[in-house]
Amino acid sequence: MEIRNVKGTHDIFGEETKIYDYVIDVFSRLCKRYGASHIVIPTIEHTELFQRGVGEGSDVVRKEMYTFEDKGGRLITLRPEFTAGIVRSFIQNKFYVNDLPCRLFYHGSVFRYERPQQGRYRQFNQLGVEFLGSDNFFVDVETISLAFSFLKKLGLDKNVIVKINSLGDLETRNNYRQALKDYFAQHLSNMCEDCQSRYELNPLRILDCKVDADRAYIEKAPSISTFLSPQSSKRFNDTIEALKQLEIPFEIDQTLVRGLDYYSEVVYEIHIKNANEGAIGAGGHYSTLIEELGGPKMSGVGFSFGLERLVSLFAAKSNLSQQAVKDEIDVYIMPIGDGVHSHALKIAQYLRDNNISSEICLEKTKLGNMFKKAQKRNAKFALIVGEDEIKNQTVQLKNLSTTEQIEVKIADILNKIKE
Ligand code: AMP
Repeated sequence: MEIRNVKGTHDIFGEETKIYDYVIDVFSRLCKRYGASHIVIPTIEHTELFQRGVGEGSDVVRKEMYTFEDKGGRLITLRPEFTAGIVRSFIQNKFYVNDLPCRLFYHGSVFRYERPQQGRYRQFNQLGVEFLGSDNFFVDVETISLAFSFLKKLGLDKNVIVKINSLGDLETRNNYRQALKDYFAQHLSNMCEDCQSRYELNPLRILDCKVDADRAYIEKAPSISTFLSPQSSKRFNDTIEALKQLEIPFEIDQTLVRGLDYYSEVVYEIHIKNANEGAIGAGGHYSTLIEELGGPKMSGVGFSFGLERLVSLFAAKSNLSQQAVKDEIDVYIMPIGDGVHSHALKIAQYLRDNNISSEICLEKTKLGNMFKKAQKRNAKFALIVGEDEIKNQTVQLKNLSTTEQIEVKIADILNKIKE
């Protein structure tokens, strides 16, 4: 019987891989321009890291983790997100003794046991940043600016909006949590089961409920803005002013609370304009996570994009995506006659060693057919080599856009191509 892929996973191949590589490349280059360096962390971590880091009250930890006991009896989890693992690494490797903030970026797969549907997988890819070790609101703004510049580079900035909110400091959230409990107590018996358990574990998460019948109660719930402490309120206003100066389009969304428990102060999501789909990226500030995981008392901020959602949006909406999938080679080599192939192989290796992509026509066929193949591969040059050329240590080089053909010495091929 044929063995199929596991439900909720998917293969990425062909043109799609080119778009994935392109998007990751654009992101990596941009992150470096912001002074961030690439971090690669393990796919598996101790389960406790996510229980303590992401929080027992979050859906991710309560229902969605891939957890197993390894042969040594340790409880291990496939990472359901990156932040907790990166903070663990920041603490363990004492990155905090260096100049701060420590700016890191990442990409890789994450695992969540969710109900698979369009754009929602059980193994998917995220890319994002964590800027660690500074409490300055400018660092929060820097991450939003990076996320927006990234979308601009992909030609998607006109299609997106940043939704932003403040969850305030601990005092704000304690007061607000109590106000929400008082308010929802009267409606809870009419609300969904998930909201009933959220009421006990983390009433702020009720605001995130997508069940239509519950939305009517949620819309009338008290708003967090009236509970913000003076410091949190000033911090939020300063953030918003900075976004205006940077001309980043945003809207304040008082019901935005984010699904992971570690956030405080500013939280944000990036949405496609006028669409009801979920966010394509999301992030926020965290004041206590580093300390809770055994590190010094320091803040951090980060965001994460879902690569699958980003790639499908990029392929459908951006005119740059044609460029990402354009597959072209520099030189198509056409060996004519017997015993010429090994010579052609040497020329191909010489070109590749000098950063010129090349492919050899391996089929014995007419020259006309070879030109058709070169055209299909979007080759810039055709390089024809036969017995006479071997004798003379030359090749025929044809520029396929101008159709000019010249005989050149092998040693001169590189110069001619670069010209
Ligand atoms: P989160 O870590 O939950 O804040 O999610 C960050 C981003 O990851 C979201 O905005 C989505 O784009 C993406 N994402 C989250 N869950 C999934 C999933 N199950 N499948 C595909 N993408 C996802």
